[in-house]
Amino acid sequence: MPVPSDDRVVQRVAHAQAVATARGLVLTTLRRQVYALIVASERPIGAYDLLAALQPARGRVPPTTVYRALDFLLEHGFVHRIESKNAFFACCDVDHPHQGQFLICEACGETVEIPGGELARQLAGSAPAQGFAVLRQVVELSGLCAACQHGQR
Ligand SMILES: [Zn+2]
Ligand SMILES: [Zn+2]
Repeated sequence: MPVPSDDRVVQRVAHAQAVATARGLVLTTLRRQVYALIVASERPIGAYDLLAALQPARGRVPPTTVYRALDFLLEHGFVHRIESKNAFFACCDVDHPHQGQFLICEACGETVEIPGGELARQLAGSAPAQGFAVLRQVVELSGLCAACQHGQR
């Protein structure tokens, strides 16, 4: 798979670039390529698939280099990690960094980010009352998407 260049991907990459610039961040070529691949992949994509997808454009990229690019994209809210799949998914709203919440179809892998910070805040807010320090917050609902429930896939 070459680094994707369809309009939807190009637009989202350009938008991420603008957000990065406004925050004084630098989207290097590799970070941009990794982000474009994650956007283009409509399902969560794992690091090894990213490495393989980068190869036509970049040749062999050392995994640590790609992990660093992923860390950058995660840290700044351009992508989320889907913990249950150990894979990455492009954030639906890069303008407002937040914790991601996801619906994940067990049959076809379709993944939808549920926007809305209210639940995330409620969850995070309930932890201190228990004397608990949250290090990582993951909300992933697994089930069947509408198409799979109706046997359309
Ligand atoms: Zn998001
Ligand atoms: Zn499905």
